[in-house]
Amino acid sequence: MIDKSMFASDNYSGVCPSAWRALEEANQGFGRAYGDDEWTRRACDALRDFFEIDCQVFFVFNGTAGNSLALASLCRSYHSIICHELAHVETDECGASEFFSNGTKVLLVPGAEGKVDLEAVRHTVERRTDIHYPKPKALSLTQSTEVGTVYSPAEMAVVGELAQELELKLHVDGARFANALASLKVAPADITWRVGVDVLTFGGTKNGMPVGEAVVFFDQELAQEFDFRCKQAGQLASKMRFLSAPWAGMLETGVLLDNATHANGMARLLAQLLIRIDGISLVHPVEGNAVFVQLPEALIDALHAAGWHFYTFIGSGHARFMCSWQTDEQDVRTFVTEVDKISRLKKI
Ligand SMILES: *Cc1c(COP(=O)(O)O)cnc(C)c1O
Repeated sequence: MIDKSMFASDNYSGVCPSAWRALEEANQGFGRAYGDDEWTRRACDALRDFFEIDCQVFFVFNGTAGNSLALASLCRSYHSIICHELAHVETDECGASEFFSNGTKVLLVPGAEGKVDLEAVRHTVERRTDIHYPKPKALSLTQSTEVGTVYSPAEMAVVGELAQELELKLHVDGARFANALASLKVAPADITWRVGVDVLTFGGTKNGMPVGEAVVFFDQELAQEFDFRCKQAGQLASKMRFLSAPWAGMLETGVLLDNATHANGMARLLAQLLIRIDGISLVHPVEGNAVFVQLPEALIDALHAAGWHFYTFIGSGHARFMCSWQTDEQDVRTFVTEVDKISRLKKI
């Protein structure tokens, strides 16, 4: 039996076998607390290998903490953070960035396909330089974006140059960074520090871990006292090895990228099959693991009535279907058959 909620979000998935195995291994005997353990060391080293640079790594429980604490470390309270108007930081974190930074204001810019419009970023910085305006200090991007698109290395390079010119620190919300990498098939360094990214919140949860995101500082100076920030925010895990072990396991085996590649492939298939149905069209290009489609209102109602659970208010406000490491081809086909059947039955 198919789970009718499975396409609602990628965090509806369970823990992938590789992460589970690493947790089991980490559960042998004792381990030092608060990150002073072998697994955490291994995970940090695996991330340094992955990014081909000596970066500073911290593990926190979730993405909201990772984003807001990272952004807080880039700004003072009278500064501002620029992000896309659909950014998770703005729409889904309950004001955590403002809270943890003691009031740093978030300034919004528009932009097609979930990507910040660079002219709007420039305008936001340059329109005012007087003392009454919250001085822009950081730019936060989401990769892959809230609407399932990705910034290419060339686009990232342009963003990086602009950030440097405007003296903005560059943060990336990478809740789905692995999906962006799997989509672009480039070296992780090519869309991060090589193009000027200072800090990345790297998501593990949506890609098959039970809990835990990595905050990766490429500019090590910015990581100063970040451990205190985490502790104060209640984000320092005492049994840290259970956050870090899945990172070690999934990076060392390559499963991290395999999971994302699989999820992206399922999203592509889902999109291809859905748009064959009358009245359904794609809203954004499917470059990651998200599928946004325009569905007739009556079809949305009929699907909900038939027990299918999915969101219609996230991102650009269309029906969103997410795939994960756990989505299999049969699930996709079963769902699409169901949509087709309901659509015909209701003569939508
Ligand atoms: C899921 C998600 C996060 C992290 O959310 P938490 O629930 O705090 O872990 C951050 N950014 C984006 C774009 C997300 O989709």
